[in-house]
Order: sequence, then C-alpha cells, then structure tokens
Amino acid sequence: MNKTILLNKRPHGKPTLNDFKIISEEVPISVDGEVLLKTVYVSVDPYLRGRMNDAKSYVPPFELNKPIQSGIIAEVIDSKQADFKKGDFVSGMLDWKEFQTSNGKGLIKVDKTEAKLSSYLGILGMTGLTAYLGLTEIGLPKEGETLVVSGAGGAVGTVVGQVGKLLGCNVVGITGSDEKVSLLKSKFNFDHAINYKTTSDLKAAIKSACPNGVDIYFDNVGGEISDAVLANINKYARLPVCGAIALYNKTEVPMGPRLQPIILTKSATMRGFIIGDFAEKFPAATKKLSTWLKEDKLTFSETIVEGFDTIPQAFLDLFAGKNEGKMIVKI
Ligand code: NDP
Repeated sequence: MNKTILLNKRPHGKPTLNDFKIISEEVPISVDGEVLLKTVYVSVDPYLRGRMNDAKSYVPPFELNKPIQSGIIAEVIDSKQADFKKGDFVSGMLDWKEFQTSNGKGLIKVDKTEAKLSSYLGILGMTGLTAYLGLTEIGLPKEGETLVVSGAGGAVGTVVGQVGKLLGCNVVGITGSDEKVSLLKSKFNFDHAINYKTTSDLKAAIKSACPNGVDIYFDNVGGEISDAVLANINKYARLPVCGAIALYNKTEVPMGPRLQPIILTKSATMRGFIIGDFAEKFPAATKKLSTWLKEDKLTFSETIVEGFDTIPQAFLDLFAGKNEGKMIVKI
C-alpha cells in the first residue's frame, strides 16, 4: 500500500498531530511520459506552517484533505519518461506519499556519488541557498564586520554563520540550548553563541558579545530576540529578514518596539526575501557551496528521524527546537 499524509485541519496557533491525517491508497502506476517515484528523504521546514493557514501568501495554501508537500529526495523506480531512468535519484517539491508519479516537471537529478543524498535538502538545497544568498546579496558582509545570526543552530543558521566566517566576519549566534551553543563554537566556527532561553538580559548579552556593535543581523526568528539585536545595530547595518518562526504560531500579532526610529537613525537597511527571488543565482551559489564543502571549509549537521509516519511529529519538533541543523525524515 501507499501511505499519504493529508492536511486534516487548519491549525489555530501551535499545530498538533490532529492537523494531519495518514491514509493508505493503491500504489500508482506510471503512464507514458511519467516516472514512478519512491520517497527516500523528506524535508520538514518551518515555512510549511504558513501554508497550513488559509491565507494568501507567496505560495498557495495547502488544501484540506489533500497531501502536504515539501522538498523530497526520491528514487525513480520505473520510468516512461525520456529524461529519467530507473535508479536515478531526484529532488523536487513532492507530495508526502511513499510512492507517486510525476511528469518530471520541476524534478532535478541529484548525484549520490557527489554528496550525501540528504544534503540536497539542506546545505546543497533550499536552506543552503537561503543562507548563502540571503547573507551575500542582502547582508553584504565585509571583512572585520560583526554578524549576528538568530535561529543559529538550525539548517539555515549553521550555514549563515560558517559563510560569515569564511568571508571574514566576527560571528555571534543566538540559539535555544547549551548543547547548540557548544556545537556552534566547536563545529561551526562561531566566535560566540548565546542561549536565548537562559539569558535574562539578551540585549546586554549581545552588547557584550559584539563590542563593536552589530553590522549585519541575519534574522531567522523575529519577535523579542530580534528586538534585542536591533537595539545593538551600527550605522549602515544590513538586516536580511529570512524568517520569523517566533511569530508563526501566534494567533495575535504581539506588539514590539517601533522599528522606524532605529532603522532611520542608524541608516540601516532591513529587507525581507523569499529564496525564489534569487532563482537566477542558484547555479553559481550551489557551485560555491559544493566547492567549499569538498574543500572541507563548510560542514553541516542533520537531525534524521526514521519512518514515514514520523513526518508530522518531525515537523512539530521544529517549533520545540529538537533539531540540530537540518531536520529530515528518512523513509
Ligand atoms: P531550523 O532548522 O532553524 O529549525 C527551526 C529552529 O527554530 C528550531 O530548531 C528552534 O531552534 C528555532 N525556534 C523554534 N521556535 C522558536 C521561537 N519561538 N523563537 C526562537 N527560535 C525558535 O529551520 P530552517 O533553518 O529551515 O529555517 C530557519 C528560518 O528561515 C525559519 O524562520 C524559516 O521559515 C526561514 N526560511 C526562510 C526562507 C526564505 O526563503 N526566506 C527559506 C528557508 C527558511 P532553537 O533551539 O534555537 O530554539
């Protein structure tokens, strides 16, 4: 049989397992022009939370009683499509199904001899590109500058910090556990890391970790953590706004400090982005990331949980900080 995960209910606030439904269907048969795919790795990502709401955004919402989709690595197990052969591995935005057919549109072949298959969902996939392009295109790092990264222990954050170091920045990460603080410094080359859950005065802690002030703030979380960083920015600071996970489950928008006086008096640039904005830069950016990876200048962590049925829980665990690096489900 073929297990499939559907959107059962739209969450109100924090999502729960009841918002998902697992059903069993027949394994589909590919027709001419199609491939039959077997799911191997599933990416769970914070942005999927936004697609569970019935709200207009940069991607359409998931439909009730229809499969959830995310980045998936799959094996071609049957092909009636000229571009793919049995045994190929592909990456694409696919349904949360054990097996599915595709006409090949949007699928990219991935080479398991070049890199670990799961890395095409992380450092060599969407999150790596987000980190590299958000930092270089909007953060505009210069040698000797101070870069602060929130959500630093996650998929995007661990790459942002390492790229910042490669480009000569002093890098400070903000994350949610002492284990992640240690990992950021020992494995990912951050100069300092702060545990936001155990630091009573975050604004003062950032000031002390950044004696020359903050030149770049790569924002993955929004909310109070970002308020504390903004209080420490320098003149001409750049602030790529990548994510706002601290706000995704809020049912009412919390009130924070008004940003305009800070942005104005610091002549700062705050710019949001969706990674697709930089699509034409993906090939060069992927090449850069894979070269650094092969040269051992970059490394990555993955939290891999096993089993198709665990996909919803793995997604929920992102909001509890249970992942180090990229959260992936192995089927
Ligand atoms: P992560 O791997 O960073 O996983 C999410 C992490 O967020 C958790 O591990 C947790 O770590 C932290 N977190 C959870 N809840 C909160 C909270 N309330 N306050 C502060 N931190 C919290 O995810 P990604 O690297 O995939 O994504 C990081 C951010 O980037 C997300 O906001 C995501 O939406 C965004 N994104 C944006 C893209 C774009 O195109 N703009 C593309 C990809 C991602 P901790 O232990 O530190 O709390």
